[in-house]
This record gives sequence, structure tokens and C-alpha cells, in this order.
Amino acid sequence: MALALQKENEARSNLSYFEVVREHPDVPPLVILKMDVQRRGVHYTKKALSAVDESVHQLRSPYIFGSRDAQIKPVPESLLLRDGTSILVDPTPLEQNPYVVDVIDGQVVLTDQGEVLETVEYWPKPDFYDKKTSSGVLMSHIISARPQRLNIFQSGFCHFWANDKGCRYCDIVTHFKQQRAELGIPAKLSPQDVFETMQEALKQPGRFTGICLTSGSDTRGAEPFDQEVDFYIEILQAIGANFKVKKFPSQLIASAFTEKQLARLYEETGLTSYTADLEVLNEELFNWICPGKAEWIGYREWKNRLIRAVDIFGRGNVSTGIVGGVETAKPKGFGSEEAALQSTLTEAEDLISQGVNVAFIVWVPRPGSYFRDQKNPSLDYFVRLAKGLHQLRVKYSLPIDFDDYRRCGNHPDTDLSRLL
Ligand code: SF4
Repeated sequence: MALALQKENEARSNLSYFEVVREHPDVPPLVILKMDVQRRGVHYTKKALSAVDESVHQLRSPYIFGSRDAQIKPVPESLLLRDGTSILVDPTPLEQNPYVVDVIDGQVVLTDQGEVLETVEYWPKPDFYDKKTSSGVLMSHIISARPQRLNIFQSGFCHFWANDKGCRYCDIVTHFKQQRAELGIPAKLSPQDVFETMQEALKQPGRFTGICLTSGSDTRGAEPFDQEVDFYIEILQAIGANFKVKKFPSQLIASAFTEKQLARLYEETGLTSYTADLEVLNEELFNWICPGKAEWIGYREWKNRLIRAVDIFGRGNVSTGIVGGVETAKPKGFGSEEAALQSTLTEAEDLISQGVNVAFIVWVPRPGSYFRDQKNPSLDYFVRLAKGLHQLRVKYSLPIDFDDYRRCGNHPDTDLSRLL
């Protein structure tokens, strides 16, 4: 019996994209395709690159994490599917078997082994991208865009790396140094530059639905993380100076703060939602994969702080992000996808039942991270993870409007909110 189950699970993990689509008729095929493209990455052919119009399309702008080929090149920022689903995906070396973006019969298409799967569009370039702040910095280096939101990465350093305890899948510091050297991006954003760029971005009608801030953790201060909180408050107040009302649609992805720190963020700024990423929903794996978070806060306290944040920001406005699939990393991760899924969803239910949402991104083993040589799980795994998280939100009637396909676009599980 156990052997039969094991064989069945192995078979599931080898299913092709079309087989996975047949296995999950309740999940939109384009959302499944998004997951597989994020899982495997993309390669742009010469024809695909020659279809880029720099006056219309958004080229890769500064980002907090690096790409799978560890290069900074003027390629399309990313892709949109024909139903508006956004795919956040990096250029990937051909030997890793990525999807291929090509031009066939005048259309930009996504192909796999020569077969055309879908037409795709490059992301549209925002109106403010080529403008400069009064201090002379290119505005796309201050705020970067997704099809639906504005991203502010206020600092590209994470203090967990100071004693080499950064998260094992993360390449923030390697990538930050590369962006500083090759693009000359500022080490830390100035509130005035952020104010001016936001003012310009908001002039574009009908495009942006939310503002997201994130950066590495900063452990410094009278209480640990006080400096991180202070800087976020400064930047949020600079953003808020553009609005006539106190609150504006916004998400902060940051360290797990104390109630005192969270109350300051809520009361002194226009922030409307708060996310502190546990990254992996298992205490032992958290200790191994996120040693800095474990050292400074710990898994249980991190969870407690998330639960307490619901009292401050309100139900439906607090979440934790996980790096979907990293729970299978070798050698300490789960040996089977079945066990990994069951454990992750059980822990997710504990959080969701207490008002803390859980959303995943697809784990990409990046070359600048410790997990560079690992392999992410199967497509079937990611589809079941997306379904499982979505079903838990439905079970507990917990909305995730602030981080769904309209405001974020990077979580396959919150793409499923459109089914409600
Ligand atoms: S907290 Fe972890 S994932 Fe976030 S920037 Fe620091 S090392 Fe990277």
C-alpha cells in the first residue's frame, strides 16, 4: 500500500503542463501556466527581443532579488497573459530548460519545445519611468512598477547577512552590490526622491491600485528593528504627503515587529496592510533556512507577532509570505512532496484561522543564494499548494484583497481569488 502511494506520488510529480491542467479542472489553465513559467523561467529569442519597443515596454528595473542568469540586461521586465494574469519571471539559462519567448506570425508567444502555448504581452512602461527627481536620480531607480502596483525597495541591504545568517534561498546582498556597481542605484532611498517620484507616478490615470514597500531587515535600534521601523515611517510619510486622506492602499513587507512598533506604523502613517514573511511553515526548517530570523525573533514569536498585528491592522489586512517549495530543499527539507504539502497546509490553517493570511511565491533557486544548485518541486505541487491556501481562505472567510491579482500579481494562490 505504502509503495503504491509512493509510486502514485512520483507519477504526479512528473506530470507535464497539459497533464496537470487535466488533473485540476477547477484551476484556470492560465494560472497553472503562470506557475510553470515562474517555476522554470524564460529565455527570450533574438526575435522576441527585437519586438521590444523601449518607448512602450518596461525593461527590467532595479529589483530586490536577482535573476536566474545573474545578469542585469535590458530585457522585458516580464510577461502578461491574455486574461491579465501577470507572470513575474526572470531570464534563465537555456540549459535549465526554461520556456522560450519567441515571435511567430508577428505575435509574441510563449513556447515549450517548439510548441506555441499562448500569446503574451510585455509589461507596459509607466509614464514616469524616464523622468528624474530634482536630485537627478532616474525615477525608475526610486520606484519600480508592476502592471498593477508601485514597488519601493528603500534599502538593498539585510542585516541578517552581517553574521552570514541570511535566508538560504536569498540573494539580496549579492544582487544589491551588482545593481550598485552596474546601474548606480542609490544605497538607500531619500524621502524627498520618493515623494517626487510618487507624485509623478500618481499622475498616470487608471494604472496603479496599490503601493508596496519592502527591504532587507535592519536589526539596529534601541529595541531591535527600531531603525527599520523609523525608516519605513519616514518613507511612508513622504508617500502620504501626496494624498489628501490619511490612509492610502499600501502594503509593508517587513520584519516581525512588536506591538509597540506596529502601533507606531499604523498610527503615524497611511499604511493599510502589514506582511511579515515566515518563509517556511515549519519551525525546524525555519531555523535552518532562515537563521537570522530565528536568531533575532524565533519562529513562535514571529507567529505571535503576526497574530497580534491583526488587532492593529484588522482582519484581512495581515499576512505572511512563504517561499513555496523551499520546504523540500535538500538535505533537511521534506523528502516527499506529499509530506511537505500536508505539513505546510496544516500550519497555514493555524495562521489563517487566527486571521493571518498566507500567500506563496514560487521558489526559484537563484545563483546568488546558498540554494543555487537545488531544484524546485513539481508543477503539480505548486498547483495543490495554491488550491490548498485558497480553500483555507474560503473556509475561514478571510479576504486577501490587498495582495491578490489586482494589487500584487505574484502569488498563484491569490490569483484564485478571482474565482470567488
Ligand atoms: S530577511 Fe531573509 S529573505 Fe528577507 S532580505 Fe533578509 S535574508 Fe533575504
